[in-house]
Amino acid sequence: MASSILTDKIFKMKKFVLNKKLEENSMENKKRIVTGDRPTGRLHIGHYFGSLKKRVELQNSGEYEQYILIADVQALTDNFNNPEKVRKNVRELAIDYLSCGIDPEKTTIYIQSMIPEVAELTVYYSNLVTIARLQRNPTVKTEIAQKRDLFGESVTYGFLGYPVSQAADITALQGELIPVGEDQLPLIEQCREIVRKFNSIYGEVLKEPKEVLSKEKRIKGLDGNEKMGKSLGNAIYLSDSDEEISKKVMSALTDPSRIKKDDKGNPDVCMVSYYHKLFTNEADQKTVCDECRAGARGCVACKKQLIKNICDELKPIKEKRAYYETHPEIVENILQEGTKKAQESAKEVMKKVKEAMMLNYFDKN
Ligand code: ATP
Ligand code: MG
Repeated sequence: MASSILTDKIFKMKKFVLNKKLEENSMENKKRIVTGDRPTGRLHIGHYFGSLKKRVELQNSGEYEQYILIADVQALTDNFNNPEKVRKNVRELAIDYLSCGIDPEKTTIYIQSMIPEVAELTVYYSNLVTIARLQRNPTVKTEIAQKRDLFGESVTYGFLGYPVSQAADITALQGELIPVGEDQLPLIEQCREIVRKFNSIYGEVLKEPKEVLSKEKRIKGLDGNEKMGKSLGNAIYLSDSDEEISKKVMSALTDPSRIKKDDKGNPDVCMVSYYHKLFTNEADQKTVCDECRAGARGCVACKKQLIKNICDELKPIKEKRAYYETHPEIVENILQEGTKKAQESAKEVMKKVKEAMMLNYFDKN
Protein backbone atom coordinates (compact mmCIF):
# COMPACT_ATOMS: atom_id res chain seq x y z
CA MET A 1 0.00 0.00 0.00
CA ALA A 2 2.72 2.44 1.11
CA SER A 3 4.80 1.57 -1.93
CA SER A 4 1.88 2.20 -4.29
CA ILE A 5 1.36 5.69 -2.73
CA LEU A 6 5.08 6.32 -3.22
CA THR A 7 4.96 5.15 -6.86
CA ASP A 8 1.95 7.38 -7.43
CA LYS A 9 3.81 10.36 -5.91
CA ILE A 10 6.91 9.71 -8.03
CA PHE A 11 4.72 9.40 -11.12
CA LYS A 12 3.00 12.72 -10.37
CA MET A 13 6.34 14.41 -9.73
CA LYS A 14 7.78 13.11 -13.03
CA LYS A 15 4.66 14.30 -14.83
CA PHE A 16 5.00 17.74 -13.22
CA VAL A 17 8.67 18.03 -14.26
CA LEU A 18 7.81 16.86 -17.78
CA ASN A 19 4.98 19.39 -18.11
CA LYS A 20 7.24 22.16 -16.81
CA LYS A 21 9.89 21.22 -19.41
CA LEU A 22 7.31 21.14 -22.16
CA GLU A 23 6.05 24.55 -21.05
CA GLU A 24 9.61 25.93 -21.03
CA ASN A 25 10.36 24.47 -24.47
CA SER A 26 7.21 25.90 -25.96
CA MET A 27 8.05 29.31 -24.38
CA GLU A 28 11.51 29.13 -25.93
CA ASN A 29 9.98 28.73 -29.36
CA LYS A 30 7.64 31.65 -28.91
CA LYS A 31 8.78 35.07 -30.06
CA ARG A 32 8.88 37.56 -27.24
CA ILE A 33 6.90 40.78 -27.35
CA VAL A 34 7.95 43.75 -25.23
CA THR A 35 5.82 46.86 -25.17
CA GLY A 36 4.72 49.49 -22.67
CA ASP A 37 3.38 52.88 -21.71
CA ARG A 38 4.46 55.83 -19.62
CA PRO A 39 2.50 56.30 -16.37
CA THR A 40 1.76 59.94 -17.17
CA GLY A 41 -2.03 59.52 -17.16
CA ARG A 42 -4.76 57.03 -17.84
CA LEU A 43 -4.99 55.44 -21.27
CA HIS A 44 -7.02 57.01 -24.05
CA ILE A 45 -8.73 55.87 -27.23
CA GLY A 46 -5.46 56.51 -29.11
CA HIS A 47 -3.90 53.72 -27.04
CA TYR A 48 -7.01 51.56 -27.42
CA PHE A 49 -6.91 51.57 -31.23
CA GLY A 50 -3.17 52.20 -31.60
CA SER A 51 -1.81 49.52 -29.28
CA LEU A 52 -4.12 47.91 -26.70
CA LYS A 53 -6.40 46.05 -29.09
CA LYS A 54 -3.35 44.69 -30.89
CA ARG A 55 -1.76 43.57 -27.62
CA VAL A 56 -4.92 41.69 -26.62
CA GLU A 57 -5.06 40.07 -30.06
CA LEU A 58 -1.38 39.01 -29.90
CA GLN A 59 -1.84 37.74 -26.35
CA ASN A 60 -4.86 35.62 -27.27
CA SER A 61 -3.24 34.19 -30.38
CA GLY A 62 -1.11 32.05 -28.03
CA GLU A 63 1.81 32.43 -30.42
CA TYR A 64 3.84 34.90 -28.41
CA GLU A 65 5.20 35.55 -24.96
CA GLN A 66 4.16 39.09 -24.09
CA TYR A 67 5.65 41.54 -21.56
CA ILE A 68 4.16 44.96 -20.89
CA LEU A 69 6.25 47.45 -18.98
CA ILE A 70 4.99 50.43 -17.07
CA ALA A 71 7.72 52.92 -17.92
CA ASP A 72 7.96 54.98 -14.74
CA VAL A 73 11.63 55.86 -15.24
CA GLN A 74 10.83 57.20 -18.69
CA ALA A 75 7.83 59.11 -17.31
CA LEU A 76 10.14 60.82 -14.83
CA THR A 77 12.31 62.22 -17.64
CA ASP A 78 9.71 64.94 -18.19
CA ASN A 79 7.88 64.61 -14.86
CA PHE A 80 10.88 64.54 -12.49
CA ASN A 81 9.26 67.36 -10.54
CA ASN A 82 6.02 65.43 -10.06
CA PRO A 83 6.74 61.97 -8.63
CA GLU A 84 3.21 61.71 -7.15
CA LYS A 85 1.74 61.84 -10.65
CA VAL A 86 3.97 59.01 -11.88
CA ARG A 87 3.38 56.88 -8.78
CA LYS A 88 -0.42 57.25 -8.97
CA ASN A 89 -0.55 56.40 -12.66
CA VAL A 90 1.38 53.14 -12.35
CA ARG A 91 -1.73 51.57 -10.80
CA GLU A 92 -4.07 53.40 -13.18
CA LEU A 93 -2.23 51.94 -16.18
CA ALA A 94 -2.36 48.44 -14.75
CA ILE A 95 -6.13 48.83 -14.25
CA ASP A 96 -6.53 50.09 -17.82
CA TYR A 97 -4.69 47.02 -19.16
CA LEU A 98 -6.78 44.59 -17.16
CA SER A 99 -10.00 46.38 -18.09
CA CYS A 100 -9.19 46.11 -21.81
CA GLY A 101 -8.55 42.37 -21.72
CA ILE A 102 -4.88 41.99 -20.84
CA ASP A 103 -4.78 38.72 -18.92
CA PRO A 104 -1.99 38.37 -16.34
CA GLU A 105 -2.02 34.59 -16.88
CA LYS A 106 -0.90 35.19 -20.46
CA THR A 107 0.87 38.57 -20.36
CA THR A 108 3.46 39.74 -17.82
CA ILE A 109 2.94 43.29 -16.57
CA TYR A 110 5.91 44.83 -14.73
CA ILE A 111 7.34 48.09 -13.41
CA GLN A 112 10.41 49.47 -15.20
CA SER A 113 12.22 51.00 -12.20
CA MET A 114 12.14 47.65 -10.40
CA ILE A 115 14.51 46.20 -13.01
CA PRO A 116 17.94 47.61 -12.08
CA GLU A 117 19.51 45.91 -15.13
CA VAL A 118 17.71 48.46 -17.32
CA ALA A 119 19.60 51.31 -15.65
CA GLU A 120 22.84 49.36 -15.93
CA LEU A 121 22.38 48.64 -19.64
CA THR A 122 21.48 52.29 -20.25
CA VAL A 123 24.93 53.30 -18.98
CA TYR A 124 26.73 50.84 -21.26
CA TYR A 125 24.60 51.71 -24.30
CA SER A 126 25.16 55.44 -23.83
CA ASN A 127 28.70 54.90 -25.13
CA LEU A 128 27.27 53.59 -28.38
CA VAL A 129 25.21 56.60 -29.37
CA THR A 130 26.21 60.18 -30.13
CA ILE A 131 24.51 63.31 -28.83
CA ALA A 132 24.01 64.49 -32.42
CA ARG A 133 22.19 61.27 -33.29
CA LEU A 134 19.83 61.67 -30.33
CA GLN A 135 19.18 65.29 -31.24
CA ARG A 136 18.31 64.21 -34.79
CA ASN A 137 15.75 61.62 -33.61
CA PRO A 138 12.45 63.04 -35.00
CA THR A 139 10.33 61.90 -32.03
CA VAL A 140 12.72 63.39 -29.51
CA LYS A 141 12.89 66.60 -31.56
CA THR A 142 9.09 66.97 -31.67
CA GLU A 143 8.71 66.21 -27.97
CA ILE A 144 11.43 68.67 -26.93
CA ALA A 145 9.63 71.37 -28.93
CA GLN A 146 6.37 70.49 -27.13
CA LYS A 147 8.08 70.70 -23.74
CA ARG A 148 9.60 74.19 -24.02
CA ASP A 149 7.74 75.21 -20.83
CA LEU A 150 9.58 72.55 -18.89
CA PHE A 151 13.01 72.60 -20.50
CA GLY A 152 13.35 76.15 -21.83
CA GLU A 153 16.23 76.34 -24.30
CA SER A 154 18.21 73.45 -22.89
CA VAL A 155 16.86 69.93 -22.52
CA THR A 156 18.02 67.61 -19.75
CA TYR A 157 20.53 64.83 -20.32
CA GLY A 158 17.88 62.33 -19.08
CA PHE A 159 15.21 63.37 -21.56
CA LEU A 160 17.57 63.52 -24.52
CA GLY A 161 18.79 60.07 -23.58
CA TYR A 162 15.45 58.35 -23.11
CA PRO A 163 15.76 56.45 -26.43
CA VAL A 164 18.86 54.82 -24.94
CA SER A 165 16.97 53.69 -21.87
CA GLN A 166 14.14 52.47 -24.11
CA ALA A 167 16.70 50.34 -25.97
CA ALA A 168 17.69 48.96 -22.57
CA ASP A 169 14.03 48.15 -21.79
CA ILE A 170 13.62 46.19 -24.98
CA THR A 171 16.90 44.33 -24.90
CA ALA A 172 16.87 43.57 -21.15
CA LEU A 173 13.88 41.36 -21.90
CA GLN A 174 15.21 40.16 -25.30
CA GLY A 175 12.16 41.70 -27.00
CA GLU A 176 11.85 40.77 -30.66
CA LEU A 177 8.46 42.20 -31.58
CA ILE A 178 7.45 45.63 -30.32
CA PRO A 179 3.82 46.74 -30.81
CA VAL A 180 3.86 50.55 -30.91
CA GLY A 181 2.15 53.59 -32.34
CA GLU A 182 3.71 55.41 -35.28
CA ASP A 183 5.42 58.04 -33.09
CA GLN A 184 7.66 55.30 -31.70
CA LEU A 185 9.20 54.17 -35.00
CA PRO A 186 12.33 56.38 -34.77
CA LEU A 187 12.90 55.01 -31.26
CA ILE A 188 12.79 51.41 -32.42
CA GLU A 189 15.20 52.30 -35.22
CA GLN A 190 17.53 53.88 -32.67
CA CYS A 191 17.32 50.70 -30.57
CA ARG A 192 18.26 48.58 -33.60
CA GLU A 193 21.30 50.79 -34.23
CA ILE A 194 22.44 50.36 -30.62
CA VAL A 195 21.96 46.58 -30.84
CA ARG A 196 23.98 46.37 -34.07
CA LYS A 197 26.77 48.49 -32.64
CA PHE A 198 26.85 46.45 -29.43
CA ASN A 199 26.93 43.14 -31.30
CA SER A 200 29.62 44.33 -33.70
CA ILE A 201 31.93 45.33 -30.86
CA TYR A 202 31.22 42.77 -28.12
CA GLY A 203 29.77 39.81 -30.04
CA GLU A 204 26.29 38.60 -31.01
CA VAL A 205 24.46 38.88 -27.71
CA LEU A 206 21.44 41.10 -28.33
CA LYS A 207 18.40 40.52 -30.53
CA GLU A 208 17.31 43.15 -33.04
CA PRO A 209 13.71 44.20 -32.36
CA LYS A 210 11.06 44.77 -34.98
CA GLU A 211 8.04 47.06 -34.61
CA VAL A 212 4.45 45.83 -34.97
CA LEU A 213 2.07 48.55 -36.07
CA SER A 214 -1.71 48.46 -35.63
CA LYS A 215 -3.98 49.28 -38.53
CA GLU A 216 -4.66 52.58 -36.72
CA LYS A 217 -1.07 53.76 -36.37
CA ARG A 218 -1.75 57.21 -34.98
CA ILE A 219 -5.05 58.48 -33.61
CA LYS A 220 -5.53 62.24 -33.86
CA GLY A 221 -6.50 64.48 -30.94
CA LEU A 222 -9.87 66.16 -30.30
CA ASP A 223 -8.26 69.47 -31.28
CA GLY A 224 -7.19 68.12 -34.68
CA ASN A 225 -3.59 67.61 -33.52
CA GLU A 226 -1.86 64.82 -35.44
CA LYS A 227 -1.58 62.81 -32.22
CA MET A 228 -3.87 62.25 -29.28
CA GLY A 229 -1.56 62.27 -26.26
CA LYS A 230 -1.87 62.03 -22.49
CA SER A 231 0.35 65.04 -22.08
CA LEU A 232 -1.34 67.05 -24.85
CA GLY A 233 -4.75 67.60 -23.20
CA ASN A 234 -6.65 66.43 -26.29
CA ALA A 235 -7.69 62.91 -25.34
CA ILE A 236 -10.82 60.89 -24.63
CA TYR A 237 -9.82 58.53 -21.82
CA LEU A 238 -11.09 54.96 -21.59
CA SER A 239 -12.23 55.82 -18.06
CA ASP A 240 -14.04 59.08 -18.92
CA SER A 241 -17.64 59.20 -17.67
CA ASP A 242 -20.45 59.45 -20.24
CA GLU A 243 -20.81 63.13 -19.26
CA GLU A 244 -17.11 63.80 -19.86
CA ILE A 245 -17.24 62.01 -23.22
CA SER A 246 -20.27 64.06 -24.17
CA LYS A 247 -18.57 67.35 -23.19
CA LYS A 248 -15.40 66.47 -25.09
CA VAL A 249 -17.15 65.39 -28.30
CA MET A 250 -19.37 68.48 -28.19
CA SER A 251 -16.24 70.66 -28.17
CA ALA A 252 -14.31 68.65 -30.79
CA LEU A 253 -12.98 70.43 -33.86
CA THR A 254 -15.48 70.40 -36.77
CA ASP A 255 -15.42 71.93 -40.25
CA PRO A 256 -14.79 75.62 -39.37
CA SER A 257 -16.46 76.86 -42.56
CA ARG A 258 -19.76 75.25 -41.62
CA ILE A 259 -21.67 77.93 -39.73
CA LYS A 260 -25.36 77.11 -40.18
CA LYS A 261 -26.94 73.69 -39.71
CA ASP A 262 -27.82 73.36 -43.42
CA ASP A 263 -24.42 74.58 -44.73
CA LYS A 264 -22.68 71.89 -46.75
CA GLY A 265 -19.90 70.36 -44.62
CA ASN A 266 -16.57 68.71 -45.32
CA PRO A 267 -16.19 65.57 -43.16
CA ASP A 268 -12.53 65.29 -44.19
CA VAL A 269 -11.61 68.18 -41.91
CA CYS A 270 -13.95 67.24 -39.06
CA MET A 271 -12.77 65.33 -35.97
CA VAL A 272 -16.29 64.04 -35.28
CA SER A 273 -16.39 62.36 -38.68
CA TYR A 274 -12.86 61.07 -38.03
CA TYR A 275 -13.93 59.36 -34.76
CA HIS A 276 -17.07 57.98 -36.42
CA LYS A 277 -14.67 55.89 -38.51
CA LEU A 278 -13.45 54.23 -35.32
CA PHE A 279 -16.71 53.77 -33.44
CA THR A 280 -19.49 53.58 -36.03
CA ASN A 281 -20.43 50.78 -38.41
CA GLU A 282 -19.70 51.31 -42.09
CA ALA A 283 -23.28 51.89 -43.27
CA ASP A 284 -23.99 54.53 -40.58
CA GLN A 285 -20.61 56.12 -41.26
CA LYS A 286 -21.49 56.55 -44.92
CA THR A 287 -24.84 58.12 -44.03
CA VAL A 288 -23.10 60.53 -41.64
CA CYS A 289 -20.66 61.65 -44.35
CA ASP A 290 -23.28 61.87 -47.13
CA GLU A 291 -25.68 63.91 -44.98
CA CYS A 292 -22.88 66.20 -43.81
CA ARG A 293 -21.77 66.90 -47.39
CA ALA A 294 -25.37 67.57 -48.44
CA GLY A 295 -26.02 69.85 -45.45
CA ALA A 296 -28.84 67.49 -44.45
CA ARG A 297 -27.67 66.86 -40.89
CA GLY A 298 -26.42 69.32 -38.30
CA CYS A 299 -23.23 68.84 -36.28
CA VAL A 300 -25.13 68.36 -33.01
CA ALA A 301 -27.06 65.30 -34.29
CA CYS A 302 -23.83 63.88 -35.68
CA LYS A 303 -22.03 64.42 -32.37
CA LYS A 304 -24.86 62.84 -30.37
CA GLN A 305 -24.69 59.68 -32.46
CA LEU A 306 -20.92 59.52 -31.94
CA ILE A 307 -21.25 60.06 -28.17
CA LYS A 308 -23.65 57.12 -27.94
CA ASN A 309 -21.35 54.83 -29.91
CA ILE A 310 -18.27 55.75 -27.85
CA CYS A 311 -20.16 55.29 -24.57
CA ASP A 312 -21.48 51.87 -25.72
CA GLU A 313 -18.00 50.66 -26.70
CA LEU A 314 -16.36 51.84 -23.48
CA LYS A 315 -19.10 50.57 -21.14
CA PRO A 316 -17.71 47.04 -20.57
CA ILE A 317 -14.19 48.46 -20.11
CA LYS A 318 -15.45 50.85 -17.43
CA GLU A 319 -17.35 48.07 -15.67
CA LYS A 320 -14.16 46.04 -15.39
CA ARG A 321 -12.29 49.13 -14.21
CA ALA A 322 -14.82 49.62 -11.40
CA TYR A 323 -14.11 46.05 -10.23
CA TYR A 324 -10.32 46.51 -10.10
CA GLU A 325 -10.64 49.93 -8.46
CA THR A 326 -12.40 48.24 -5.54
CA HIS A 327 -9.88 45.35 -5.48
CA PRO A 328 -6.48 47.10 -5.32
CA GLU A 329 -4.88 44.02 -3.72
CA ILE A 330 -5.45 42.03 -6.94
CA VAL A 331 -3.75 44.71 -9.03
CA GLU A 332 -0.86 44.95 -6.55
CA ASN A 333 -0.35 41.20 -6.65
CA ILE A 334 -0.36 41.10 -10.47
CA LEU A 335 2.29 43.85 -10.56
CA GLN A 336 4.46 42.11 -7.98
CA GLU A 337 4.33 38.73 -9.68
CA GLY A 338 4.94 40.21 -13.14
CA THR A 339 7.87 42.28 -11.91
CA LYS A 340 9.47 39.21 -10.29
CA LYS A 341 9.25 37.32 -13.58
CA ALA A 342 10.74 40.22 -15.58
CA GLN A 343 13.57 40.56 -13.03
CA GLU A 344 14.59 36.94 -13.60
CA SER A 345 14.62 37.43 -17.34
CA ALA A 346 16.70 40.63 -17.19
CA LYS A 347 19.30 38.92 -14.96
CA GLU A 348 19.93 36.30 -17.65
CA VAL A 349 20.54 38.95 -20.31
CA MET A 350 22.75 40.99 -18.01
CA LYS A 351 24.95 37.99 -17.35
CA LYS A 352 25.54 37.53 -21.09
CA VAL A 353 26.16 41.26 -21.59
CA LYS A 354 28.72 41.36 -18.78
CA GLU A 355 30.53 38.32 -20.13
CA ALA A 356 30.66 39.86 -23.59
CA MET A 357 31.92 43.18 -22.20
CA MET A 358 34.50 41.41 -20.01
CA LEU A 359 32.92 42.81 -16.87
CA ASN A 360 32.37 39.41 -15.23
CA TYR A 361 35.30 39.81 -12.83
CA PHE A 362 34.40 37.36 -10.11
CA ASP A 363 32.80 34.63 -12.21
CA LYS A 364 34.50 31.29 -11.55
CA ASN A 365 35.02 30.26 -15.18
P1 ATP B 1 2.65 61.11 -23.25
O1 ATP B 1 1.90 62.26 -23.85
O2 ATP B 1 2.85 61.23 -21.77
O3 ATP B 1 3.92 60.80 -23.99
P2 ATP B 1 1.23 59.17 -24.80
O4 ATP B 1 -0.23 59.39 -24.96
O5 ATP B 1 2.13 59.54 -25.93
O6 ATP B 1 1.67 59.85 -23.44
P3 ATP B 1 2.82 56.87 -24.27
O7 ATP B 1 2.76 56.21 -22.94
O8 ATP B 1 3.98 57.77 -24.54
O9 ATP B 1 1.44 57.64 -24.48
O10 ATP B 1 2.76 55.80 -25.45
C1 ATP B 1 2.51 54.43 -25.23
C2 ATP B 1 2.22 53.72 -26.53
O11 ATP B 1 0.99 54.18 -27.06
C3 ATP B 1 3.26 53.97 -27.63
O12 ATP B 1 3.44 52.77 -28.35
C4 ATP B 1 2.63 55.01 -28.49
O13 ATP B 1 3.08 54.95 -29.82
C5 ATP B 1 1.15 54.61 -28.41
N1 ATP B 1 0.30 55.78 -28.62
C6 ATP B 1 0.24 56.88 -27.84
N2 ATP B 1 -0.61 57.78 -28.36
C7 ATP B 1 -1.10 57.23 -29.50
C8 ATP B 1 -2.03 57.67 -30.52
N3 ATP B 1 -2.59 58.87 -30.45
N4 ATP B 1 -2.29 56.83 -31.55
C9 ATP B 1 -1.71 55.62 -31.63
N5 ATP B 1 -0.83 55.15 -30.72
C10 ATP B 1 -0.53 55.93 -29.67
MG1 MG C 1 4.34 59.47 -25.66
